Amino acid sequence: MSKDLPENTARVAHIGIAVRDLDEALRLYHEALGLPLHGRESVEGDGVNVAFLPAGDTELELLEATGPESPVARFIEKRGEGIHHIALEVDDVAETLKNLRDRGYRLIDEEPRIGAGGVRVAFVHPRSTSGVLIELCEKGGDGRP
Ligand code: ZN
Repeated sequence: MSKDLPENTARVAHIGIAVRDLDEALRLYHEALGLPLHGRESVEGDGVNVAFLPAGDTELELLEATGPESPVARFIEKRGEGIHHIALEVDDVAETLKNLRDRGYRLIDEEPRIGAGGVRVAFVHPRSTSGVLIELCEKGGDGRP
């Protein structure tokens, strides 16, 4: 690791899963698999209804589109339901974005914004990350409502 990149004690904050029907997905993850349900909320800016289910040291974030224009609706249309993004916890989202930008990675969010649970987040474009949509989540919040 180079000197100018701060070492993040990386943790997978959560794994985002795009689903067509949140209630149906909860029947699997919550009722059948027994994962606790730690909250549901709508994130209007992202056009999603989300549910968080803790799983060990991380969580599953189920994402249901609120309408056809939602990025999650477009994702499901193109690729079907499934893993949508991986959220990595970092110490400082703004600093991490700057490091990525300096190294030529393509960002979706140029600046941190407030995501689910009031946590500072930013997304990195999958075109520059081997096809994985990465969400950076600032430490101190776990993205949970
Ligand atoms: Zn997420």
